[in-house]
Amino acid sequence: MANIDYMIEICLKETLSKDVCPICYCIKTEFKQYLRWFKVEGYKEPSTLKTIQKEGFICQKHKEELTDLGEKLNNTFEFLLYWDVKLLSKNIKTLKKQAKNLSCKFCEEEKRIEIIGVIEFAKLIQNEKNLKIYLDSDALICKKHLILSLEKIKSGRIATALVDKSLKRLKELLVDFDDYFSSLDHTSDKKHKQDTFTKAIKFY
Ligand SMILES: [Zn+2]
Ligand SMILES: [Zn+2]
Repeated sequence: MANIDYMIEICLKETLSKDVCPICYCIKTEFKQYLRWFKVEGYKEPSTLKTIQKEGFICQKHKEELTDLGEKLNNTFEFLLYWDVKLLSKNIKTLKKQAKNLSCKFCEEEKRIEIIGVIEFAKLIQNEKNLKIYLDSDALICKKHLILSLEKIKSGRIATALVDKSLKRLKELLVDFDDYFSSLDHTSDKKHKQDTFTKAIKFY
């Protein structure tokens, strides 16, 4: 697979001015790439499958994403079952020990991409040109990624600029909510700005 840091950097640059959270958008794009790779090679690659088995389980969301592999999954699950038969044949104590470390390999992959996304965003935004592109655009980083990015940004001025942009947008949305709720009071009037929540939800 191509260098993931570089791929995410390119993606973030392209998304810096789009009406999305650039980090969320690029995590999604990059994870899609990972799934594409899994569907071509990973589904039968021993080292990948061993990690899936070791992490413990596959969460509901990712199980659903795998189903369109169809028959190929016989390769995947024959492998997993073989190792889990070995695991379950060990004593119960060994099994109990796994309780603290259970995770879904695909969720772990998404987390790994997210960490890189935050680091790359923080790097990009500390460049004045990129900062201006972001500040002048419709893009808005979500709350989680705002907070995680701030942790990586050394410049107090840039951190404040990012927070101010979010704050401005949230205040505008509060005005829209005001319009919506006051429009409910006037029986003759039509409802206004009913879709404000669809804009607010993007921040979370
Ligand atoms: Zn986000
Ligand atoms: Zn998962």
